[in-house]
Amino acid sequence: MTDKIRMKTPLVEMDGDEMTRVMWAMVKDKLLLPHIDLKTEYYDLSIEKRDETDDQITIDAAEAIKRYNVGVKCATITPNAARVTEYGLKDQWKSPNGTIRAMLDGTIFRTPIMVTNIQPSVRNWTKPIILGRHAYGDVYKNVEYKIKGPCKAELVVTNENGEDVRRTIHEFNGPGIIQGIHNLDASITSFAEACFSYALDQKVDLWFATKDTISKIYDSNFMEIFEKLYEEEYKDKFEAAGITYFYTLIDDAVARIMRVDGGLLWALKNYDGDVMSDMLAAAFGSLAMMTSVLVSPHGYFEYEAAHGTVQKHYYKHLEGEKTSTNSVALIFAWSGALRKRGELDGTPELGAFADRLDAAALGVIEDGIMTGDLAKLAEPPARKTVNTEEFLDEVARRLEA
Ligand code: NAP
Ligand code: MG
Repeated sequence: MTDKIRMKTPLVEMDGDEMTRVMWAMVKDKLLLPHIDLKTEYYDLSIEKRDETDDQITIDAAEAIKRYNVGVKCATITPNAARVTEYGLKDQWKSPNGTIRAMLDGTIFRTPIMVTNIQPSVRNWTKPIILGRHAYGDVYKNVEYKIKGPCKAELVVTNENGEDVRRTIHEFNGPGIIQGIHNLDASITSFAEACFSYALDQKVDLWFATKDTISKIYDSNFMEIFEKLYEEEYKDKFEAAGITYFYTLIDDAVARIMRVDGGLLWALKNYDGDVMSDMLAAAFGSLAMMTSVLVSPHGYFEYEAAHGTVQKHYYKHLEGEKTSTNSVALIFAWSGALRKRGELDGTPELGAFADRLDAAALGVIEDGIMTGDLAKLAEPPARKTVNTEEFLDEVARRLEA
């Protein structure tokens, strides 16, 4: 056995819940610890630990990412009423992803993981389409009101000195609805910065789309912030890297995306990104074949799986049944974090290991050995459908070879 790969700086490791927690430990034991002298600062973000610490552990983990710059996170339960009863929680704690995102001020980038035997529904998508979703404001922080009968609805803005600005929304003759939404220049700017730097990092073209022809102030503000930042800070860098920035209307972008071969970053406003990321994930095959990274303009990176804790599989696992849960997104979360760690620390062995790990996982699938979710879609059909552990053992074997 050769020497294990050494790490200079620790990764911030955030453990999670249910089936993904089970797979997290397996990935470490079978794929990482035999090859790397793994250095992590460990935070247990399981629902029990968050409850015990009044969610302080989540804040501590985000603070740790600010110190070390790179984190890797397991999927975690965002408690609803049913989870409060199931785990006897003190409170319906907020989504850890939301808390961490708010503290790191980031944008989420999701990229499909492609294999030769799973065909995307859109045949010409031969390269991945990366999606960058703005994760603040708009309809996700709306104020709504139901109009019951005839009335005049107005938009009223009261300035610091008490002056009002008024705009008529509509003079209602009968029942209807109204909605107030907002966004912040600071948040849009950091979204734009994250997209420009990620496109540079990945060496791919950047597309951004809004509906500025209809929303002449609101959506135009997004477009103008992107445009200004591009002209002032990124144009030269993009030209040097041989990539382009392209702005178009959202409906035009949706039509064009169907005709490209992929290999681009598509930046989208919050709602568009929500809808389009589910469409892309489904079209490329599976949520378990999708990487997800939170990139902050302050230079922090957090890698995770795009899917949840796979609750139904976990209940089977608890009953002693074998599950066939796909660990690829978790493996790629680790490899993404290790590669970035290597890049920041100047330890290329880590990046090379990450590449071998990814290749081993994809190689197993391309050899026709896969978990049930993929076996349903494979073309040619799977040679062997394996359980959670068998899949990881196959990857481990390949990695050793
Ligand atoms: P989920 O964990 O994404 O799973 C939904 C379904 O998708 C599963 O039942 C399974 O379908 C399939 N699936 C997802 N990941 C898979 C994988 N790796 N391998 C095979 N199949 C996979 O969503 P959920 O069950 O609705 O949510 C469970 C918990 O996750 C919730 O408490 C939620 O709060 C949390 N969550 C966390 C995150 C995060 O931390 N990033 C994100 C989303 C949800 P079949 O049952 O048909 O096999
Ligand atoms: Mg959604």
